[in-house]
Parts: sequence; structure tokens; C-alpha cells
Amino acid sequence: MPEIRGNEWKYIKECLDTNWVSSVGSFVDRFEQIVADYVDVKHAVATVNGTAALHVALLVAGVQPDDEVLVSTLTFIAPANAIRYVGAWPVFIDAEPDYWQMDPQKVVDFLEQDCRWAGGELRNKATGQRVKAIIPVHILGHPVDLDPILTVARKYDLVVIEDATESLGAKYKAQMVGHLGDIACFSFNGNKLISTGGGGMVVTDNEEWAQRARHISTQAKDDPVEYIHNEIGYNYRLSNIQAAMGVAQMEQIDDYIVAKHRIAAAYGEGLKGIPGLQPMRQASWAESVFWLFTVMVDEAEFGSDSRALLKKLAEVGIQTRPLWQPMHLSPAYADLNPNDCPVANQLYREGLSLPCSVGLGESQHRVVDALRLRSSSGKPRA
Ligand SMILES: *Cc1c(COP(=O)(O)O)cnc(C)c1O
Repeated sequence: MPEIRGNEWKYIKECLDTNWVSSVGSFVDRFEQIVADYVDVKHAVATVNGTAALHVALLVAGVQPDDEVLVSTLTFIAPANAIRYVGAWPVFIDAEPDYWQMDPQKVVDFLEQDCRWAGGELRNKATGQRVKAIIPVHILGHPVDLDPILTVARKYDLVVIEDATESLGAKYKAQMVGHLGDIACFSFNGNKLISTGGGGMVVTDNEEWAQRARHISTQAKDDPVEYIHNEIGYNYRLSNIQAAMGVAQMEQIDDYIVAKHRIAAAYGEGLKGIPGLQPMRQASWAESVFWLFTVMVDEAEFGSDSRALLKKLAEVGIQTRPLWQPMHLSPAYADLNPNDCPVANQLYREGLSLPCSVGLGESQHRVVDALRLRSSSGKPRA
């Protein structure tokens, strides 16, 4: 649930009062600047949503039809779909078991063992297709272990597109996610840490790419008076009203992150010692924003599986959610899944995300008590 308690009303009213409501206006510029400064990148281009941001990032990165792009299998479906929008093919990479992110070793293994470097290009030995990019998805507010991925990407001249849509504000080795790869995407959908109702952003240090992103997301207009377009573009720009909300939300992001940390710490403490419940962890090299707070439910130890627990909690008015069906299992990608992804399979089976909106407050105790009562130990909090 978005938190709306800052300057949202004021800034949106300013748009309405001045008639600057559409995709040109000072708030779009301000929103881009505020996100660029926050993430520590040179350029930011606001888009209608995070999926459009991913589509644009793939286009400006030069991903071509029938190229292959490595992407986390355990993710919301948007990055896989964006790969298909440009006619390229996703190669799904399993998660690692500790922090549930794209497994960097599996990325390296695939590129080193299953691909061949020839004529300045990397090709998948099995399909013969060119491998062009990697999309590490920083899921649930926690960063991917990027260094090994960046190293192998440099070696084979692959573009790294960070899907940072769930992790604005998270840090990898003290650096903001979103400025570690070549280009990155954020989302400001209603369920994300900050929201503009719907919205997204492409960020990059590459000036030429940023200009191109702006161009193709504005219908690739070359002469706005004569309506000359030298290529096919998209109507992907964010409106000034949405950007106004974004500016107000960005003013509060530090408070939101503090609230998320407090919620995560309280769950960490409250769930201690419940058999069969493994809360998400934060790597020593990471600062998570705990966008979601997810636990793994071991059926044998806990006494019921994640879906049975979901139903029992729903009966007492506590809404929880499973993780996403991994992409290699998705019917939408049924025809192209040679990869076995056992870790993601288990995370999907056992994962349950607990209530964790910024405004959760005291009702968090109720969630902890409900989990204790339903565990095999059955003891409420002391
Ligand atoms: C939310 C999300 C997106 C896309 O965001 P929209 O703004 O909803 O289009 C992309 N990737 C991931 C991993 C997401 O969670």
C-alpha cells in the first residue's frame, strides 16, 4: 500500500493549477533529477511504468531479435516479457539459496560452458544464437551479488541491465543499485516502495543511451512541427501529474526505508525460534530495503505448507502472498525451458510474503502471534 503523507497533494494541485498535466512539465524534469541524484547516475528518463523502462533499456542497449538475454527465473514476469517485446529470448537462471537472488555462479557457468566466443561474439552452443545481455533482477529489496556478473559481462562484451524495480535504495557493497550495471530500471507502481500510481525510470551514465531512451519513448519524434519520425517509437513518457507525485514520494524515501528496516527487524526478532520458518536474510555485502518480507515455510518442521498457512492466515484476516511462479515453470514460457532450476522451485513452493507495508504499525504483532500459534510448537509470544 502506498504511503501518501507528504507533498503529494500540494504538487499535484500545482500541476492542475498551472495546466501542466501531460508529459511535458517541470515535475518530470525534477523527478528525473531527484532519482538520478539519489541513485548516483548521470541520466534518468521517466517512463509510464517499469515494464516500459525495461523495454526501452533493451532497445537502447542494442538487443536484437533472436539475441539471448540471461534473466533471473525467480522474478515477477515483466523482465522476461520485455525481452520478448524486442524479439529476443530469455535464458532463465536459477536463484542462489542464501538470499534468493540470481545465482552469479550459474551465470558464469552458463557463459563459460554452454557458450562459445567467436568473431567478437558470444553464442549459445545449443541454439547458435548470440548472447547479448544479462538482466539481474534485485528481488524483494535485496541486491544481486553483482561483481562476478559484471566481471564475466566485461569479458564477453555483454550489457548488464539491472532490473532494480523492487530495490530502489538498496545498496551493494555500499553502492546504490541502479548504477552498477550499464543501465537500470525502476518502477513506481502502486505496490513498490515509492509510487506514482504507475511509473518507471531508466537510468544510465551513458549520455547517448539516455538521449535515445528519451527519443524512442516520445514516439521518436524528429521534427515535432512537421511530424517527422525517422523510426518507430513508443508513447512511453510519464505525465507531469505522476511525476509530481513521484517528487513528493522521493522526498520521503529515507523514512520509508527506515520503516521497512524496523518491520524486518521486528519480524526477525518475533519469528526467532519458530521451527520450520526461515525469514529472509541480508548478505554482509548488502543493504536491503526489505521491499517485501518473505519467509520460507518448511512443511515437515512447521506443520503445514506455505499454501495451507496462507489460507489459515487469511481466515483471521491476515493477507500473505506466495512468491512468483518461476519463469521456467510459467505457461507463458512453456516452450523454451531446458534449464533445471531446483532452488527457485523450492523457494516458490515454500515462500510466503508477510504483511509489510510502511504503515503496518502495531498490527505486526498480530501477524507474529498468528504464526506462532499455527506453528507446530504452538506457543504464543512470551
Ligand atoms: C514491478 C516489477 C516490474 C515492472 O514494473 P511495472 O511498473 O509494474 O511495469 C519489473 N520487474 C520486476 C521484478 C517487478 O517487480
